[in-house]
Amino acid sequence: MASMATLLTIEEALVLVLERARPLESEDVPVEAAGGRILAEDVRSLVDLPPFRSSAMDGFAVHHGDAPGRLPVVERIPAGRPAGRRLVSGEAMGIATGGSVPDGADAVVPIERVVDHGGEVEIPATVAENDNVRPIGGDVRAGDTVLVAGTLVGPAQVGALAAVGLASVRCARRPRVAVLSTGSELRRPGEVLEPGQIYESNGPMIAAALSQSGAQVERLELVADDPEAHRDALERGLAADVLVSSGGVSVGPHDLVRTVGAGLGVEEVFWGVAVKPGKPLAFGVRGQTLVFGLPGNPVSSLVAVELFVRPALLALQGADRPEPRYAYGRLTAPLRASDSRDQLVRARSRLEEGEIVLEPLSGQESHMIARAAGANALVLVRSAGGDLAAGDGAPYLRLGSY
Ligand code: AMP
Ligand code: MG
Repeated sequence: MASMATLLTIEEALVLVLERARPLESEDVPVEAAGGRILAEDVRSLVDLPPFRSSAMDGFAVHHGDAPGRLPVVERIPAGRPAGRRLVSGEAMGIATGGSVPDGADAVVPIERVVDHGGEVEIPATVAENDNVRPIGGDVRAGDTVLVAGTLVGPAQVGALAAVGLASVRCARRPRVAVLSTGSELRRPGEVLEPGQIYESNGPMIAAALSQSGAQVERLELVADDPEAHRDALERGLAADVLVSSGGVSVGPHDLVRTVGAGLGVEEVFWGVAVKPGKPLAFGVRGQTLVFGLPGNPVSSLVAVELFVRPALLALQGADRPEPRYAYGRLTAPLRASDSRDQLVRARSRLEEGEIVLEPLSGQESHMIARAAGANALVLVRSAGGDLAAGDGAPYLRLGSY
């Protein structure tokens, strides 16, 4: 097993994780259920969009050269059906937004710009050709690529897929993730705490985080600090695509995850990352299964999920950019750099005078999950970058907005 003598940088560790997170096979997913999934293939439009010349306004379809003028209204075009005949110059037809502009018409005059006399409509001003007429294929043409493989499907993408006529799309299958909490002191919420015990929070937290990135999470039972219990639980978890444990990866006599994992054939890729919190992170593989041993302190676990586990899940699903995406904001208070480790500092971000400002929270210790719950940002403070002053810019990761 690796020693923690030399810590990897965050970037070095992420490369080692992503190298081993090869895309899973794909499956058909109904478009209705594709939100949060990642496309495995490019997607082409089945139709011209719009499929016909469509009206951008409620109003009257005309030949633009007939305005200004007073024109007979020869038809009222309903939604969902074209006009019964061609429009002849000198005529008007009533039309609704999204209605099919009849052949012979080359403009729609909005209702607000006419006087409707019932059988006739008066257009007081000139009208430009193609006014309020949406051309066929103006959004996308049949056969054109709408979205490319590797795209994370969000609400706008679901809308686009449905609009171009697709009932289903190919997506990577959802990774199966086993989540395991270790520690004899841990109790489930709802149980009575005896002296020395705490409620376990990493399991539900990790499950919540990873469910948001497409994982199908299986929660394993809590395990006590006992090799036999560890062996059974880890063996069960190793049947998943990803096993994420928490606790038991430090240097204490009760820290059994790495040794028991090694006995089960987990090859350790690294142990120890130069990050605060989250240093004792262990990562390994057995066959195709990725194995993350997260530190027990809840905020360390949270940070390790954002830096490494979530990117791994996205890579398993073929995402084009699985790496954490940093944004940039301005600090409201100074932050001290550590000389040995990059830090992720819990903060609140907000928009102030057109700029994102980051307010570091009090209570930065790695057990303080209740304080961390007030954060919506993790500010990256580089060890090599020196101390930061109030007003300095800093990169940050959004928390809880996936
Ligand atoms: P460990 O690395 O197992 O020594 O754990 C470090 C610290 O994190 C200890 O204070 C543990 O009690 C705590 N811890 C470990 N696992 C969990 C968990 N699932 N939920 C909450 N705290 C935990
Ligand atoms: Mg422990």
